Amino acid sequence: MALTWEELGWERLSPSVGRRRLPIWDSTVGLVAGDRAALLVDAGSTLREGAELRAQAQRLLGDGRRVTHLALTHPHFDHVLGAAAFAGVEVYGAVGLDTVFETGRDDLLADAVRHGADRPGVTEAVDLLVHPHHLVCAEWTLDLGGVQVLLANVGPGHTGHDLAVLVQGGSDSGSGSGSDSRSGADSRPGSPEIVFCGDLVEESGPPQAGRDAVPTRWPHALDRLLELGGEDAVYVPGHGSVVDAAFVRAQRDELAVRFGVS
Ligand SMILES: [Zn+2]
Repeated sequence: MALTWEELGWERLSPSVGRRRLPIWDSTVGLVAGDRAALLVDAGSTLREGAELRAQAQRLLGDGRRVTHLALTHPHFDHVLGAAAFAGVEVYGAVGLDTVFETGRDDLLADAVRHGADRPGVTEAVDLLVHPHHLVCAEWTLDLGGVQVLLANVGPGHTGHDLAVLVQGGSDSGSGSGSDSRSGADSRPGSPEIVFCGDLVEESGPPQAGRDAVPTRWPHALDRLLELGGEDAVYVPGHGSVVDAAFVRAQRDELAVRFGVS
């Protein structure tokens, strides 16, 4: 019998969309379930976590369905190192992500170890790192079957390769009258727009700006996020609780002051 999103530790954001805050580093993953395909947003911080997420997604999707698409919001270890657990999945990232994965493996490994990840596990995950199949320069639309998703390269900001994921509102599949518990089959008109922000937005603490951040462009990236989602969207930060447009705007203004840009 299918378990509910909540029973597996997921927070349901609409009939077709949920997210989970992962342990230790509190990075967020999202799952968008269409009729024909399913998108995972970020992949967790270890191979083991990625495998667990894959298994959980299969249980949530039901009917033998699997994750078919994976969008990586940015190349930090706590968001990408589980990706190798998703063999056969179409992987999307902002343009340039492939180069980071090619030439920045030592940095990825060092960063993970510095944050307390175990070196053998990280080494294996970095060795198996999946290269993105599709590089997003501007925007890319995915039709998952009844659910439209827009992948948008809104950066740079938190990194040089920030990808946001907008799940269009009110276009979920199904009549809303059935009792089928399968994800996406009980959708209701009026589902909110949902924006997965990656680490461009953080709720549980101030946004982390490392050596790979592009601070002068970060506020503009948040302007783009707000343009995408609008006032009524649900904004899902890379770390922390779900927020609204007012929070994103306030964080944009704080970053502008912090980095001395308008
Ligand atoms: Zn990050």
